[in-house]
Amino acid sequence: MNLIMLGPPGAGKGTQAAMLAKRLGIPHVASGDLFREALQAKTELGLKAKSYMERGELVPDEVTIAMIRERLLQPDCDEGMILDGFPRTIEQAEALNGLLAEQGKTIEAALFIDAPEEELVRRLSSRWTCRKCQAVYNVISNPPRERGKCDVCGGELYQRIDDEPDTVRNRIRVYWDQTSPLIDQYRHEGLLTTIQSEGGIDHVHEKILSALRIA
Ligand code: AMP
Repeated sequence: MNLIMLGPPGAGKGTQAAMLAKRLGIPHVASGDLFREALQAKTELGLKAKSYMERGELVPDEVTIAMIRERLLQPDCDEGMILDGFPRTIEQAEALNGLLAEQGKTIEAALFIDAPEEELVRRLSSRWTCRKCQAVYNVISNPPRERGKCDVCGGELYQRIDDEPDTVRNRIRVYWDQTSPLIDQYRHEGLLTTIQSEGGIDHVHEKILSALRIA
């Protein structure tokens, strides 16, 4: 199963994509995580992406598409994958169709996870991320068992620089300008399912499973 998770920053795409990937036994391919790993490892890709990420802007399409192409060619994606944060522009969506077609694959569904804007800003400003495995926590609604420490791998939790309020607002603006046209495109292709991100993480997960008819 090849799935796309769409939605504004802070809607809970990453959390839900990780849960769904575990449930389906397929990889969770998150473009933001791949960029952050490259940034941390100070690779050429990381250096290219750094200034865009810090401003909450999109990394240029050619850089992003090349990175995703390499990831999708790895054998663990053979049985399917959950794409989180990619595609984010019409050009990326077209490139994705081309990449999948080359491998004889298609997209089965695009899940649009939505939440009101005040809620997005509130969630992102209280979000903490694991430096090692990228698991996310919310200090108010989903705190780690031990302060500052990841429940999954014991890694150190930190606040992403692009989760600061001004950058968050820019990321939401960028999302509306550049990514939201994809919602109409996938709706038009009959692939879109909209899920409201409310009622808690487990409840949203259940809604996703029932939308995908996974018992
Ligand atoms: P995310 O973790 O998905 O919020 O992504 C963090 C940052 O990585 C974004 O604000 C962009 O700077 C960059 N990024 C992630 N995915 C993409 C993408 N598909 N296209 C361009 N830039 C991206």
